[in-house]
Amino acid sequence: MREIKETFGSMVFNETVMQERLPKEVNKKLQKTIIEGKALDVEIAEAVANAMKDWAVEKGATHYTHWFQPMTGITAEKHEAFITPGNGGILLEFSGKELIKGEPDASSFPNGGLRATFEARGYTTWDPTSYAFIKDKTLCIPTAFCTFDGLSLDKKTPLLRSMELIHQQAMRIIRLFDHEGITRVTTTVGSEQEYFLVDRHLYQQRPDLILCKRTLFGTPAPRGQELEDHYFGMINERVKAYMQEVDKELWKLGVLAKTEHKEVAPAQFELAPIFTTANIAADHNQLMMEVLQKVAFKHGFECLLHEKPYEGINGSGKHNNWSIVTNNGINLLEPGQTPEKNARFLLFLTAIIKAVDEYQDLLRVSVATAGNDHRLGANEAPPAIVSIFLGTELTNILEALEQGIPYNQTYQRSMQIGIDVLPEFPKDTTDRNRTSPFAFTGNKFEFRMLGSSLSISCPNIILNTIVADALSQFADQLEKSTDFKTDLNTLIKETIHQHKRIIFNGNGYSKEWVEEAKHRGLLNIKNTAEAIPYYITDKNIELFTKYHIYTKEEMFARDEILFDIYSKTLQIEAITMQRMTTQDILPAAFSYQKELLTALQLKQQLSIDCEPVERRLCTALSKEIRGMVEAAEKIQTILDSAVGLPLPQVSKIYADTLILAMNTLRQHGDRLEEMIDRKSWPYPQYTDLLYRI
Ligand code: ADP
Ligand code: MG
Repeated sequence: MREIKETFGSMVFNETVMQERLPKEVNKKLQKTIIEGKALDVEIAEAVANAMKDWAVEKGATHYTHWFQPMTGITAEKHEAFITPGNGGILLEFSGKELIKGEPDASSFPNGGLRATFEARGYTTWDPTSYAFIKDKTLCIPTAFCTFDGLSLDKKTPLLRSMELIHQQAMRIIRLFDHEGITRVTTTVGSEQEYFLVDRHLYQQRPDLILCKRTLFGTPAPRGQELEDHYFGMINERVKAYMQEVDKELWKLGVLAKTEHKEVAPAQFELAPIFTTANIAADHNQLMMEVLQKVAFKHGFECLLHEKPYEGINGSGKHNNWSIVTNNGINLLEPGQTPEKNARFLLFLTAIIKAVDEYQDLLRVSVATAGNDHRLGANEAPPAIVSIFLGTELTNILEALEQGIPYNQTYQRSMQIGIDVLPEFPKDTTDRNRTSPFAFTGNKFEFRMLGSSLSISCPNIILNTIVADALSQFADQLEKSTDFKTDLNTLIKETIHQHKRIIFNGNGYSKEWVEEAKHRGLLNIKNTAEAIPYYITDKNIELFTKYHIYTKEEMFARDEILFDIYSKTLQIEAITMQRMTTQDILPAAFSYQKELLTALQLKQQLSIDCEPVERRLCTALSKEIRGMVEAAEKIQTILDSAVGLPLPQVSKIYADTLILAMNTLRQHGDRLEEMIDRKSWPYPQYTDLLYRI
């Protein structure tokens, strides 16, 4: 235990280190920047840089890097050594300028047309609200990444902008009540991360896993997850050792890795951290994904973060637990004990209901990827329809408020917001429904539609912005009210009335819900190609530009990148399948067929008159071989037909036809796998991939 206490955060340039190493005045200014989100005073940068360098060098660092999050969804870094020639030898230097600003020659990052390659430079600028840290002997400085003109090229800048926005709008609401010394509001996030482990040696024998991180062929193992014996099951020594090292590495980086367990599918696991401020949570989730993968390598595993590595068993997601908290530790989504606090809670709650209903499309886009399309709506993850789970009690309370009727026996008359205390509702009744995409879990919302490999930035940018927008509209109305209590009651009632269609406590996996949701007018966006165009509708452009989260240009760039990544992902998968077909699977099928034919020929030569099963087997093989060849040709035709078309069109063609052709190819391939002898099959099979860890 003592060791954990000593190592936790030992690689982080955190508050304690700053206090120890920075001159008092400098630290005071820096803390002000961090807490208030103000721009950094350039004059103190020099002192901070110097202290950081000395600290990092003492810890064995030789390089520094601006660590940023381009629109690829992962992180990027370019290492610079601290060395500078001087005094006839080498000096270790790191200036304030280098701390504050970097100029990675970043022409190859996706920019959606925001930056022409001839002016390839992107700029990285320090985000002092996220601590610098050391990883791989490199001092990493969390930074934002933008163009020369200040257009954002990353996922961090808009997240920071959205956090500032929700602070401003939430403060307007808070000022309407007794504000209890609240001066700053922020959003907190805890993201539960699911992943698979596979033996690295086996992984390396599968081109699909190497290139696409998921199996494109593979017939399910006879045993999958049907016995339900994996969830929370015992963790074997090898995996345990792996998890311990993951924890240790994350703790050094100040990541609060907390809970780990086996997930539903064989070889599937989950790691959850303790929640923290949204931008730091986003940084930490990136670090978590990175450490999971790096440590896996050392233990002879490969860590798969793909949303659907295997057919026939569950895929992996990421739950984004989200709340709004104040500088003095008040969780604004915690129902309070007094009428006043309850009223504030209800106002925030209805703002969220309104926001989710009005911007279902944006929430859906925020989790749309080719990988996640395999999960959403597939009875293992939430449906593709966005809705809110509140639990029966809270829903009944809202209904009573809306209709002005008594809430159960204890409330004989209708409740007045701001006058009556809300009845208590047991917390544990709120966490039962695992099928809901957006569930209230007592004092936070759990957005469950995220795919396991997704950067959590985009969903949180959208959550912060849409909720801030609802709060802003509420504040506009209430700030000019002359009868606050009455107007507050009316506002909450009306909002519930207008947006209650988004509340659904039932089974999200049922067919009836799809019908019911349609009846309620909720969106059911089936795949990524269908989702992306919603991003740049007029309503959404207006929202983001109004609050300066994105410019119109930045939005179009992101839209293009989404299409680009989606279509390229599918293209890579399709071509990988073709290669596997022609280079491995068909040759295996032919050689097995040849064996059968030789046996058949021998039998005939020797005039052994028996039922020629070999003939039946050969015919069946031929059928699947033909099926494969035809499906591979079909794939080629589709790929050819999309060449040169605009990205949205390519994406639509792929979504509507390429995926079907790939599924057909896979079906034939998987049937061949079942027919052919094991030693001729070119790849490790599901039984090995899932059970040999
Ligand atoms: P469980 O689902 O096992 O009951 P919790 O509900 O306590 O666990 O937490 C699940 C995740 O939600 C954890 O990552 C946790 O840190 C996070 N979480 C808890 N409270 C908050 C909060 N106020 N804001 C954001 N995330 C939170
Ligand atoms: Mg969860």
